[in-house]
Amino acid sequence: MAYVTLDLMASRRRVLTGAATLSLAALVLGGGSSAAAAAAAAKSSQKSVDYQTHPKGGHGCNSCKDFIPQTNCKTVEGPIQASGWCNKYAHS
Ligand code: SF4
Repeated sequence: MAYVTLDLMASRRRVLTGAATLSLAALVLGGGSSAAAAAAAAKSSQKSVDYQTHPKGGHGCNSCKDFIPQTNCKTVEGPIQASGWCNKYAHS
């Protein structure tokens, strides 16, 4: 009888440990993908803001408040060139 009780306890421990591991893996994987999706959704596509790789009217990304040197932008998906421009341009 003691063997049966110990064996059941060991089995139960294995099941609970496995369930905890699966839950943690789901949390990590789910959290990572939703964070990446949120970051992508927060930025506009280059096409939607008429991004071009050359300046317009003397304005370029290198003088925009959203430009992040060397090739990024706070509001538009990269890569962004310092000489570029889009219709969200805002002078820094
Ligand atoms: S002009 Fe557009 S793409 Fe360039 S830095 Fe500003 S917001 Fe970003």
